[in-house]
Parts: sequence; C-alpha cells; structure tokens
Amino acid sequence: MNRVYLFLSVLVLFVYFLTGCTRQQDIDPKLTEVWEPEPAVITPGDGSAPPSDAIVLFDGTDMSAWNIGKDTIWSVHDGMVTIQASKQKQERPVLISSKQVFGDIQLHVEWKAPVDIRGEGQRRGNSGIFFQSRYELQVLDSYRNRTYSNGQAGSLYKQYMPLVNACREPGEWQIYDIIFIAPRFKDDGSLQSPAYMTVFHNGVLIQNNIEIQGTIAFAGQPKYSAHNLKEPLCLQDHGDAVSYRNIWLREL
Ligand code: MG
Repeated sequence: MNRVYLFLSVLVLFVYFLTGCTRQQDIDPKLTEVWEPEPAVITPGDGSAPPSDAIVLFDGTDMSAWNIGKDTIWSVHDGMVTIQASKQKQERPVLISSKQVFGDIQLHVEWKAPVDIRGEGQRRGNSGIFFQSRYELQVLDSYRNRTYSNGQAGSLYKQYMPLVNACREPGEWQIYDIIFIAPRFKDDGSLQSPAYMTVFHNGVLIQNNIEIQGTIAFAGQPKYSAHNLKEPLCLQDHGDAVSYRNIWLREL
C-alpha cells in the first residue's frame, strides 16, 4: 500500500513539474512576436480623400481613366461626373469601363440620385457599379421608392438584397465602401473559387461577405463563365441622371 501511495505521489509531482514548465508565464513572449515583413506605411485618407496608396479613378476633374461610349451623355462639373438622363430611356443599359483592370479590391465610391424625380421602381436614379464588368452592386434611388428587394440600392442585383435600406434622400451624397474578392477559374474554365463581396452603405454594413452566384442576370439564374483574374470596373449608364465623385480603390 505504501508503495502504491509513493508511486502516486511521485506521479502527481511529475505531472505538476511538467505542467509547471509550460505555464504561460514561463513561455518567452518574444517567441510569438512577428517582425518581418513590416506592413507598408501609408497615409490614411481624410474623410472622402483617398489613402496614399489608392488608385484614383475619378478625383472630380476628369474622366481620363475611363472609356465612355458614344451612346452615353455625360459631363464633369462641380467636382462630380453626371450621367445625363437620356431623353429616350435606354432599352439596353451601357457600361462606362475603367481603362485599367482589377482583381481583388477595396473600392470607395460616392454617388447621388437626382432631385428631379421622374420614374419609380427601377426607373428612378438607376445606375450600378459593375465589378469586373459582370457583378452589379445596384445604384438606385431607394429612398421611399419600393422595388423588388434584391434590386434596390445596395443589392447585388437579383442575388442578394441589402441587410438594411441605408439610403439618403435624392440629391444627397451616398457612400459605398466595398471589399471585392474576384473569382478564380481553373485552366479548363470551371470555377475554382467564387467571388465575394462586403459592402458598407453610408457606413452601415449591408452585404456581409456574400458569395456571388455568377454573372448578373436580368432574367434567369446567374452562372459563372470564366474570365481573366483582372477585368475593368464599370459604371452603368441606365439613362438616369446619376452623379459620381471620389472614386478610388486599393488593390488587395
Ligand atoms: Mg442598375
């Protein structure tokens, strides 16, 4: 019996010794410090001003970073660019494309729906931000203007409704801050990983890391078709007078 007691005592002491050695306060905290690489030092923006490492696509003065087709009537004025409302509403919306192509990005865009309210539903201040020319984050005057929920401002068009409607009144500037992760495709054209998007509308989270289902489809189900890792960013000309300013992004 004494031997059993002695054995147990030694065992307890041994376990105590072992665990004592690995107690938190005995571990050198430097072992978990990471010093290399050091994150790049940048100057953060001030309000809507871009951070120092941003690519500015529109600073209020000119649209030289964009390709604009002849069907779009537009003007730069008062630090903004305005797509003019077409007299004849465009049956097929057209896209204004960035000359540069992008993959994963953080994007900041400010937009404004016209005070002059003409239509309703989808026909009021309709525009859109097309990531990689394919995936539309809806721009629409959704202030007291009901339409289908997955087609209102802040929706990923016909795929995800916004978590809340954070729209300001027409004529007021609205801010989108977006994280977009581009889809990846295998060599055979099949999908390797889908696109993801997170969106803040006027500082409010409205899309939380949604998994994009494929190219925007006006009718029918969306599906992916293979494309380059980097593609243009586009603004939609839907025939409505929507204005933009402070468009900048950071490549991720
Ligand atoms: Mg649209």
